Amino acid sequence: MTSTPAPEPDSPTSLPVVEDIGRARAAERVHRAKPPVDPATLHHRELLGGEFWRKIPAYRDVDEATFLDYRWQMKHSVTKVAKLLAALQDLADDGFIEDIREGFHHAPMAVRVSPYMLALIDWSDPYSDPIRRQFIPTNSELLPDHPKLDLDSLHELADAPVPGLTHRYPDKALFLALDTCPVYCRFCTRSYAVGLDTDEFEKVSLKPNNTRWDRVFEYVASRPELEDIVISGGDAYNLRSDHIRAIGERLLAMPNIRRFRFATKGPAVMPQKILTDHPWIDTLSDIVEQGRKLHKEVCIHTHFNHPNEITEITERAMNKLFERGITVRNQSVLQRGVNDDAKDMGLLLKRLSHVNVHPYYVYMHDLVKGVDNLRTTLQTALDIEKQVRGMTAGFNTPTFVTDAPGGGGKRDVHSYDWYDRETGVSVYRSPNVDPDAFYCYFDPIDLLPEGGRARWADPGEHDAIVSEAIENAKHRPS
Ligand SMILES: *Cc1c(COP(=O)(O)O)cnc(C)c1O
Ligand code: SF4
Repeated sequence: MTSTPAPEPDSPTSLPVVEDIGRARAAERVHRAKPPVDPATLHHRELLGGEFWRKIPAYRDVDEATFLDYRWQMKHSVTKVAKLLAALQDLADDGFIEDIREGFHHAPMAVRVSPYMLALIDWSDPYSDPIRRQFIPTNSELLPDHPKLDLDSLHELADAPVPGLTHRYPDKALFLALDTCPVYCRFCTRSYAVGLDTDEFEKVSLKPNNTRWDRVFEYVASRPELEDIVISGGDAYNLRSDHIRAIGERLLAMPNIRRFRFATKGPAVMPQKILTDHPWIDTLSDIVEQGRKLHKEVCIHTHFNHPNEITEITERAMNKLFERGITVRNQSVLQRGVNDDAKDMGLLLKRLSHVNVHPYYVYMHDLVKGVDNLRTTLQTALDIEKQVRGMTAGFNTPTFVTDAPGGGGKRDVHSYDWYDRETGVSVYRSPNVDPDAFYCYFDPIDLLPEGGRARWADPGEHDAIVSEAIENAKHRPS
């Protein structure tokens, strides 16, 4: 308590006048500092509406009810070049079609794109379209993989005590419940398992399977430190509603489990399901509601990457989740030519917030086969983070993270112990995973300065490049 006596309420002093002048000055200052808002900065509120899909020749006669039907979306998803051609007809030029024909053939990931995503691509300029770049591979853009890439770069298989459960962090674990998704992203970290086998790759199998799931649940129940489960895959959108119920009720019944999340790209690539798959969304809502009564949080983590992915259809779907009290958080992947500038990233964050989705993480793109043209440098992430922080509420500002190759887990991009911009090697420590280990991330080689490119061109230099960076990290003044 302060001992200063309170001012007498009605004592006549000149103070109010002084205060008024002060206020007027402050108002002037504020007025001068804040010119009228540039309408362009409110662009995040303008969502694409109307029947935009009708510009795709195959969807010309598709009415709204059909386009909103998730079964129609699934049935008409494009997995083969022939089907893509049938949808686009004369919309894309021959050179581009030839390029993707080759691209499909070499891609490590199966291709699957929803009609909704196809309709959001600007087919007059497909090479620079941010949605096309994420889902449809071309041959001409293919770059050599980084020499330090290996297929399970996050060591999810190595950190799995039972098949399909990665237990890396003390209190949380990642449950890979299935291996299919409503779409396949070229940049997928789990391309070692997710999707069908492709022309060039055979996958690890993670089918929805009761015996495998039972082993996962037994493990989770047996570890009292586990409180938090990420249900991913693949994608929880492809779990049937009875799967959602079985997993949800099993986890809710475990006293150690305090929270879990269904991870799904669905809201970004097929919001139609939230609007029209009533049994599925009602089951999910029921699990969230049961959780709430038990004081356990059940929520959705989704994956929007570009502001063009957020339309009036998204808004309707997110409104439905919001009305049901379902928290949705977003994890983006920073991708070259997709969202690697502060303007696009800023618009994405504002637009996500506008539809009540919390931007949670922006990941450095993992080292994944066949997509080095989508990766960018750590420096780009550092710069963008600096630009977007402060634009909006702190809880709507994501943490930019590197999921350190070798199983180091997620590290704040700024927390590197060493970053050599010439060789593109950044070094992180991760005390909660392994206090003695050093984890390296590698910028894509084509974006390095010439000296760095030359060193990587010599395989005899590779070990030296890495051990040098780690030595520097060790001796960094702390
Ligand atoms: C990302 C991840 C989690 C969840 O981490 P959060 O930072 O809480 O989102 C858990 N386990 C593994 C293996 C992960 O990769
Ligand atoms: S939806 Fe997720 S798991 Fe599926 S392909 Fe895309 S990034 Fe991978």
